[in-house]
Amino acid sequence: MKFYLGTNWKMHKTVAEALAYTEGLAHYAKDYPQFQFFIIPSYTALWQVRQKVDALGAPIWVGAQNTHWEDQGAFTGEISPVQLKEIGLDLVEIGHSERRQYYNETDFTVNLKTLAALKHGFKALVCVGENMDEKEHGASKSKIATQVQIALNGVKAEDLPRVMIAYEPVWAIGEKGIPAEAPYVFEIHESIRKTLCELYGEQGREVPIFFGGSVNLQNCQSYCGHPDVNGLFIGRTAWQPDSFHQVMDLVTDAWKNK
Ligand code: PEP
Repeated sequence: MKFYLGTNWKMHKTVAEALAYTEGLAHYAKDYPQFQFFIIPSYTALWQVRQKVDALGAPIWVGAQNTHWEDQGAFTGEISPVQLKEIGLDLVEIGHSERRQYYNETDFTVNLKTLAALKHGFKALVCVGENMDEKEHGASKSKIATQVQIALNGVKAEDLPRVMIAYEPVWAIGEKGIPAEAPYVFEIHESIRKTLCELYGEQGREVPIFFGGSVNLQNCQSYCGHPDVNGLFIGRTAWQPDSFHQVMDLVTDAWKNK
């Protein structure tokens, strides 16, 4: 399995900025075949970023930050998987903690979206993670196990190869995030793996699990080398191609030294 390096841009970058970024990242990405890259722009930039990645032949998957679960309907302001499919995207991110926190997404809507994304042929990147209260009350693993179990309810084993999980502790994400210690991250990833194997047997070992939340140039190496950390899902530190490039070098070195 390649090691994954991806970034969600959230509500950042105009189309022009997105295209400049894509050119910058494509320039670096070709020198790092050990990584599977993915970028998750805003809806407005998706079409053109997809065209740019294809024109450059860049080894970068392109994804959307969300999807509705219905193919069409009276859902003002929403985007359907059919509409995303027309763009030719590789993946759909589902259940980011900001969606859960600010837009009332629940484990049950995450499940509907996961099923819809898989039905339409996308890879589904399902985000899970506990908040600080849950962590302090010793409920992280049970919370995350429940999130994974509900998100994947009804997902058939034959679709599992298109499922990816991102573990993103809510307390570690964004400007006010506190970076997580690597041993804690490893423990949670092992517990997610256990849940996946309970649900799918040995096939659960093939689902890539990424870590995200204030991954930066100082700590990115510390998360590498554990068999259940299969990638890094990065916000701010990957929003400029140059600092993303530094992550590529640091992670490459970390793997060499394992
Ligand atoms: C995120 O919000 O998914 C994220 C990982 O952001 P950051 O790296 O900026 O904390």
